[in-house]
Amino acid sequence: MAVRSYQYRHYPAGSPHYERCIGLSWCSGCRVYTGAMVHVPRTTALTDALASLTSEHRDRLLHNEVRLIEHLDGRTEDDAPTQQ
Ligand SMILES: [Zn+2]
Repeated sequence: MAVRSYQYRHYPAGSPHYERCIGLSWCSGCRVYTGAMVHVPRTTALTDALASLTSEHRDRLLHNEVRLIEHLDGRTEDDAPTQQ
């Protein structure tokens, strides 16, 4: 099965830790995933796969790696109404 990956910044641009990013790798088949701290230079522009989402939706995904991966894999109906 194909292994996919996604890297995203965890700290704001003004932070001294800006280059410390989260790197996720997962298998689309069995959903096994690993998350690690990765170093991405400040000058590297990362693709923001969540750019079109509301900040609330982004926050929800960024605080739950499993949901984030499901979203990136297009497996979730996360835009459907959910119980609060
Ligand atoms: Zn697998």
